[in-house]
Amino acid sequence: MEKQNYKVEKRNIPLIPLRGLSIFPYMVVHFDVGRDKSINALEEAMVNDSLIFLTAQKEADIDVPSTDDFYHVGTVCKIKQLLKLPGDNIRVLVEGINRAKVTEIIMEEPYFEVAIEELIYNEEIIKDKKIEALMRMVIDSFEDYIGIGNRVSAEALVNVSKIEEPGRLADVIASYMFLTLENKQKILEAFHPYKRLETLQVILGEEIEILKLEEKISQRVKKQINKVQKEYYLREQLKAIQYELGEDDELLEEVDNYREKIENIKMPEEVKEKALKEVDRLLKLSPSSAETGVIRTYLDWIVELPWDKETKDRVDIKKSREILDADHYGLDDVKERILEYLAVRKLAKGIKGPILCLVGPPGVGKTSIAKSIAKSLNRKFVRMSLGGVRDEAEIRGHRRTYVGAIPGRIVSSIKKVSSKNPVFLFDEIDKLNSDFRGDPASALLEVLDPEQNNTFTDHFLEAPFDLSKVMFITTANTTASIPGPLLDRMEVIRISGYTEEEKLQIAIRYLLPKQMKEHGLKEENVHISENTIRDIINNYTRESGVRNLERNIANLCRKAAKKIVEDSVNTVRINSGNLNKYLGIPRYRHEKAQEENQVGIATGLAWTTVGGETLSIEVTPMPGTGKLQLTGQLGDVMKESAMAGISYIRSKAAELKIDENFYKEKDIHIHVPEGAIPKDGPSAGITIATAVISALSNIPVNRNVAMTGEITLRGRVLPIGGVKEKVLAANRAGITKVLLPMDNKKDLEEIPDKVRRKMEFVFVKTMDEVLSHALVKEDDNNEN
Ligand code: ADP
Repeated sequence: MEKQNYKVEKRNIPLIPLRGLSIFPYMVVHFDVGRDKSINALEEAMVNDSLIFLTAQKEADIDVPSTDDFYHVGTVCKIKQLLKLPGDNIRVLVEGINRAKVTEIIMEEPYFEVAIEELIYNEEIIKDKKIEALMRMVIDSFEDYIGIGNRVSAEALVNVSKIEEPGRLADVIASYMFLTLENKQKILEAFHPYKRLETLQVILGEEIEILKLEEKISQRVKKQINKVQKEYYLREQLKAIQYELGEDDELLEEVDNYREKIENIKMPEEVKEKALKEVDRLLKLSPSSAETGVIRTYLDWIVELPWDKETKDRVDIKKSREILDADHYGLDDVKERILEYLAVRKLAKGIKGPILCLVGPPGVGKTSIAKSIAKSLNRKFVRMSLGGVRDEAEIRGHRRTYVGAIPGRIVSSIKKVSSKNPVFLFDEIDKLNSDFRGDPASALLEVLDPEQNNTFTDHFLEAPFDLSKVMFITTANTTASIPGPLLDRMEVIRISGYTEEEKLQIAIRYLLPKQMKEHGLKEENVHISENTIRDIINNYTRESGVRNLERNIANLCRKAAKKIVEDSVNTVRINSGNLNKYLGIPRYRHEKAQEENQVGIATGLAWTTVGGETLSIEVTPMPGTGKLQLTGQLGDVMKESAMAGISYIRSKAAELKIDENFYKEKDIHIHVPEGAIPKDGPSAGITIATAVISALSNIPVNRNVAMTGEITLRGRVLPIGGVKEKVLAANRAGITKVLLPMDNKKDLEEIPDKVRRKMEFVFVKTMDEVLSHALVKEDDNNEN
């Protein structure tokens, strides 16, 4: 009976072993072949009935399989299409027809040919109740498989449920599934449909089991991830709750810390209250809010400010003198003034003396004197430059509502020195006013005012800080641009420039030793002669102070140090001969006196913020209509001086033997090659008048004479300022005779003896006197 269920068919057929692929009957599939043997087999098939036997290779990676390397049960397939691919590969589209078993290998070369045996079942006959039940089970399982695995589309279920033949059902389901090669082969090798369904059912069961496990595992992984997230969330919530309950350890500790510090620092009650209020706010706000950051910054400032820290003053005039002397050469009257000032402070404790204002050109030691004052009082020193301060906020700080606000520079500086009574130097107070007006100056006024500065309020702190114990000192280049109300509060001490001699001494005694030490040089390492230093002073610097001198000396020390290390020499000698090797070519030549007496050229003396200068004023008259032309660096004030001079000349034309109508018939051109600053304009009055008179009367001016003085319409000579600087400049220029206004006679004391002895000073009251000294007389001329 069994026998009637199927028939056996035998045939010889070419075989291709497939790598990693099993083909079931009814399956339409394509694959690529490249191996020669496979292509030969294909060709053979094509010339016959397009049938080919496909079976799976046991190991996919064997390139040249032998007959033992492929399974002997496979599928007879119909070749539906061949497609030549680039290279030698061919894409083959096949349809599985029926499974079969190899019974004999007929040949192995040039392709495998085998004898096979197909069993063809009559499925209608074998389909009984049992097999139908099995079919349903398989379909159910397949449904589960699809449902759990999510890998096969649900459409497959629709397709398979239509299939009536049990064997085919098994084959089609198997072809949908993702199975191992072994499992596929097992199904392939089950020839009887019932057996096949059974095998499939077992495999489906296993696969479902595996899928369920996979699902479980992935669920667990997911759960774990969810758990981490949940824990994080809960922990955050817990923090918030603890925080609400005041149980956040870290925060509590921080807050306690602040509280303790604030309680322990002696600060004004009002500040304390405010600070403690802020501490409370810290507890109430969410820890991650931006505002807590601001509060922390605020509290840090409050607890770090020196509310109750100060140094103990030492007012010992003798000691102070020692310190001032040790740090500075000369400056005797400045030192004297400072000692007086300190003495008064000592005696009149509590009385707020005026604020010292050191006025003088750059590099004359203003800053360093202030430092010495701090040292001698045993106070901390802090310096703040006002040059370039544009904004009140720089002094008073920004309100806390600004992002990144901090206190102003006054409070910051005080915090930096952590003492409430330092010596506080405001540098360049004269630059404050010239850069802008208004608010910064008035904020500064409050800082400097002893009546107000005990409650100086910084915008950031929002609380008063007592600045009354601070000793303020200011510096300026000139008092002219210091705002009046500020100037009123200050006691001005002027430090004028140094003479060449003083500079030399400063260099030898202070600057050179200081720089050598800073550059790690010993005394025997560098030799610089006195004359060399003089050369540096005269040819490489042009200043009243010694800042550039110091810079040049530092430069020499640096180069000497390099030479000592590089060339392993012990001593570097620097003299006038090799100086320019170290410092480059000389940068300056001081204006020298005129080479000869000239008509229309007079030498004046001017005062600038960097010291005194000589300036030669040139006048050329030419036929014209009485125009006055001024060129070069001339301010309005100088123009007025020129007019005054000309009025004087007109009134004295006859006496001076000048054509009375010169002002109608001649244009006068006045030129000042290197100008003085306009502020000092009037002091060029007599110089301009002299040059004009010389030009109009054709009498030369004595080249050895320099002069300075203001002139009135009637020819009176008025006093001027800056005598010391001007005389020093004349001395530098090699001039021997200086005309000064009579009223400046008292200023002569300021001039160092050495210079005074070398020069002749004439004090004049009127323009007549000026002319009698300045213009060359007939007999002078003969001498020359
Ligand atoms: P300023 O503040 O007037 O511009 P500084 O105080 O900065 O000048 O002085 C510049 C340098 O010159 C400093 O190194 C200072 O020590 C030095 N110096 C200035 N005057 C003297 C002096 N009389 N004696 C010694 N060194 C001086």
